Order: sequence, then C-alpha cells, then structure tokens
Amino acid sequence: MRTTVAIVGGGYGGITVAKALDEVTDVVLIEPRDTFVHNTAALRGLIDPQWTEQRLFLPYDRLLSRGQVIQDRAVRVDTRSITLASGMRIAADYIVLATGSTFPFPAKVDVDDSAAAKNKYRATHNALANADNVLLLGAGPVGLELAGEIKAAWADKAVTIVDPGRDIVAGDYPDEFRAELRRQLDALGVRLILGTSLREQPPSDAGEAKTFTATLHSGQQLTVDIWFRCFGVAPVTGYLADDLASARQENGHLKVTADLRLAGQQNVFAIGDITAIPEAKQAGAAEQHAAVVASNIRTLLHGGDELTTYQPGPAGIVLPLGPKGGATYAPGWHGYLDADAVSQIRQRSAARPNSLLHLDILDAEATSQFKGADLMTDVYAEIFGLHQRHR
Ligand SMILES: Cc1cc2nc3c(=O)[nH]c(=O)nc-3n(C[C@H](O)[C@H](O)[C@H](O)COP(=O)(O)OP(=O)(O)OC[C@H]3O[C@@H](n4cnc5c(N)ncnc54)[C@H](O)[C@@H]3O)c2cc1C
Repeated sequence: MRTTVAIVGGGYGGITVAKALDEVTDVVLIEPRDTFVHNTAALRGLIDPQWTEQRLFLPYDRLLSRGQVIQDRAVRVDTRSITLASGMRIAADYIVLATGSTFPFPAKVDVDDSAAAKNKYRATHNALANADNVLLLGAGPVGLELAGEIKAAWADKAVTIVDPGRDIVAGDYPDEFRAELRRQLDALGVRLILGTSLREQPPSDAGEAKTFTATLHSGQQLTVDIWFRCFGVAPVTGYLADDLASARQENGHLKVTADLRLAGQQNVFAIGDITAIPEAKQAGAAEQHAAVVASNIRTLLHGGDELTTYQPGPAGIVLPLGPKGGATYAPGWHGYLDADAVSQIRQRSAARPNSLLHLDILDAEATSQFKGADLMTDVYAEIFGLHQRHR
C-alpha cells in the first residue's frame, strides 16, 4: 500500500522535499500560488522588467513527474490531515510543513496570482524609474542588495539607507565583511545613516511615487520621492491546530527535534524559515532541511527508525550589490559550492591584491561569479524543467 506525504508550501524547502520523494511515494504539494516565486532574484526583477517576465515566476507543472500540486491554501493542519481554504480535506501519512515567511514587497511577493504580482513589479518599477531620491529603511541584506541593484541600473539616483542599528547586516559575520560592503556602498555613492530612524511613518505607501520630507530622530531631514521597507520577516504558521499548535513559539517559529519533526510529533515535520533552529533563515538552509526530512521519511517508509539529524552550519552569506558587486562570507564553504568551483574561486581570489580569502571573505568578482550575475535563475529554471528558457 502506498503512503501519502503531504507537503504544505511550495517554496525552496517544499519543492526540494517534493522532488526528492516524487518517485518514492505519493506526494501532494499544497501551494496557493500559481507559480513558484524565485525570490532570490526578486530585487533584480524590480529593476529589470525582463527578469520579472522571464525568471522570477516558474510554473509548477513540470516540477514533479508523479506527484500532484494542489493550488490551494492550508487553513488547518492536524496530525493526520490538512484542511484547505476551498474546504477540501487531505488525509496524509506524513506531513511536511514548509510555509516559509513573508517579507515586505518587493523582496517577497504578497499576492498569489503571478499575473497580479508581475503587474505590481511593473508598476513599482515605473514609480522607481521616475524617482530621483530613494529611501530604503533597513540596512540588512535586503536593504543593501536593493541599494546595489538600484545603483547598478541608475547610477545617478540618490539612494539613502536608514537603520537604527549601529552597523549594517546584523549577524555573526566578521567586521571585515561589513567593512568590505561599506567600502563598495561608498564607492557606489549609497548614503548610509545608521543609529537613527524616522520620527514618523512616511505619508505614502512603500513603493508609491510621492515626494515627501522625512525627519529622523537624529534631527536630519531627507526629501525623497519613494521609499521601501527592507525589514520585517515573519514566519507563516497560523494554521496549526490542536496538538500541533503547542510547538509554536510566541514569535511564530516552530520548535523542531534534531531529526526535524515538529516537537512532540511522530509524523509531522517542519523545514525552512518557519523553524526555530538558531541559524540564518536562508533558502540554502531550507533545502538542507528538506534533504534531511526526505531521507527520514524514506527511512520511516521502509520501516526503519534510525533517523538523520540536522546540524546547522556556520553563518555564511552571499550578498550581491548589483550584478557585478557585493561580498560573500563563506566560512568553511559549508554547503555552498562544489569542490571544483571552490578551488577555481580560491585560486582566482587569492591572486587578487587585498584578497580577504584568509578570512573566508570573497570579493565582488567572486560574488558575481558565484551568484550576483544570474542570481541562480538557471539552477531553478532547470529544477522546474525550463532550462532552455534563458538561452
Ligand atoms: C530578496 C531576498 C533574497 C534572498 N536571497 C537568498 C539567497 O540568495 N540565498 C538564500 O539561501 N536565501 C535567500 N533568501 C532567503 C530565502 O528566500 C528564504 O530563506 C526562503 O524563501 C525560505 O524557504 P522556505 O521554503 O522556508 O519558504 P518560502 O520560500 O517562503 O516558501 C513558502 C511557501 O509556502 C507557501 N504558503 C504559505 N502559507 C501557506 C499555506 N497556509 N498553505 C500552503 N502554502 C502556503 C507560500 O506561498 C510559499 O510559496 C532571500 C530572501 C529575500 C527576501
């Protein structure tokens, strides 16, 4: 008798589990969007409408060969079943929760329909194209990446980043990594105002073309034509019912065991941004969780009980500033690249003057080569059976 594995959420983690188990058992992937959103490339999509048209939204129809993708939203999940917004109920032997997180547009998309999402990117692109002065709230990876994209496309626009923190990119990264990013931002002409914030909310919506003057708590005033919110990630876990809800922490993250089962559960797993694992929330981590869960479900299906555990790697990040800029912190190269690519990048980076390779920091050229130039769109096009598309 075959077993049903229901995966709730078709983002980076969910698609990886679904594909890994597709040939093994009956997979049902539940996802409200009509396409996968490759949000690693979302900020380039705002700048370049061709990217929005061709590279951001990838249809699910060629992802699985046997499994089923159901376009619907889970509104209630218990230990053995999932109730969808349509009223349909799906019984499952194993459930994988992979509902990820939200982030303000344009970094993540806040509508399920890809045509509506493309329209939103296009309208916001037009508003941004006409703005001379841009304000970005948040000096984390999204704020910096967006600043880099804007400057790479429109060098003349004035871009200011405001953040109450004392430095850019909070997290367990070496100071030299931040210094390298600050050096490049300075060279691009991006203005950084740290240690302060706006006295009042802007009078316009984020991404709306409207000139206004903002006053900061430091007393400085900024006149800008458009602004974007570049902070505010939030896990999506409001659908857990009964026993499952006790695994949810106050901040919405879910407690998981070392083998990535939901705390207190035998047949329900959780992966990706929704987990309370103390590590940076990244697609790369979601995919590694997915590999562990797929392997564990396979073991359970075969009657085994020796499950694989997940070990978070050291904090690493690839932070492009436009197609040709940015920096990467890759301690121990944990899970980032295959061995040949590592050795090539190492050789080329080591040969450059002022290389920070001894600190596991890669410069702009290596960052571009590794990710910034194509933002991994070819990798995901291939996963979705579309690899001829960009050539
Ligand atoms: C601009 C930007 C760039 C980034 N770049 C990188 C990068 O280069 N490398 C990297 O490793 N990470 C990157 N990240 C982080 C990365 O996007 C997240 O860590 C990743 O999306 C998490 O994957 P996930 O599978 O947990 O969830 P998500 O990718 O958020 O997917 C969750 C899915 O679940 C669906 N869903 C939500 N609620 C329900 C429901 N009730 N029922 C059914 N389905 C539901 C959603 O529609 C969505 O498709 C970036 C993030 C941003 C914002």
